Amino acid sequence: MDSLFGGVETGGTWTVCALGTGPADIRAQVELPTTTPAETIDRIAAFFTQARERPAAVGVGSFGPVDLAPGSPTYGSVTTTPKPGWRQTPLVSELESRLGVPVVFETDTGTAGLAELLWGAARGAASLAYVTVGTGIGGALICGGRPWHGLIHPEVGHVRIPHDRELDPFAGVCPTHGDCWEGLACGPALAARWGVDPRELPDDHPAWALEAKYVALGLLAIVTVASPHLIVIGGGVLERPGLLARIRRELTALNAGYLSHPLLERRIDHYLVAPQLGDRAGVLGAIALAAGASAPAEASGSVSA
Ligand code: ZN
Repeated sequence: MDSLFGGVETGGTWTVCALGTGPADIRAQVELPTTTPAETIDRIAAFFTQARERPAAVGVGSFGPVDLAPGSPTYGSVTTTPKPGWRQTPLVSELESRLGVPVVFETDTGTAGLAELLWGAARGAASLAYVTVGTGIGGALICGGRPWHGLIHPEVGHVRIPHDRELDPFAGVCPTHGDCWEGLACGPALAARWGVDPRELPDDHPAWALEAKYVALGLLAIVTVASPHLIVIGGGVLERPGLLARIRRELTALNAGYLSHPLLERRIDHYLVAPQLGDRAGVLGAIALAAGASAPAEASGSVSA
């Protein structure tokens, strides 16, 4: 019998656990509220120890920032998060000691991007930028079939973008930077700037033109620095009908032909695309991560090509 793998996505509000081999083969799945670290870790461990079949390895995609550096004394920990109670939480060591199998660690956007690359909107892409615009702005770069970490890991939501304070005097909502990309363009920024739940803003409200411009400015930074072969962009804010098309037009206009490629011009709708796996991407990518770490040269679906 083929090995099964565990996936965990710890989110700010919900934690999802699944057991299987990929999107077509999930044997068990559960959603748990993300409460205190101790209670949440106990519930994750209980899901896997009480399952009928045991995973060969478990992947975890976590909200961050996280320590992904092998050999670091705090490898596998959530580090400087503002989430109450979760600072310096050693997720990996706690789960390994309870489960007795290898536990692999990644950012939540890293696992979600990986899943989109393997099974979703980015299948076949040589490299990928995965971006979500929701309660924050998160993102990952997937290069060579793996999330790129570099020194720590990218935090694309906190890139600085031009902010014309005469046009938009809003100070931004990022607790650290104020008007970084996330501070200007995440869902809570829309709510705070316009004083209303963004879902209640009509399609023709000026909020959406400004939002498209801001999102495109951050994407332009990603394109100019990393030159990914494809960008998948999702998240709650992108559920607004027509917003993705507006962002595509803004990105093409901002690039102004400087980076010359048909995908950045007339074929932009094949370059900046919506995700396909929805809420399942994070946990599916965590399963792929576990499979790749457990059997590096095996089978399709492995993350290590
Ligand atoms: Zn910031």
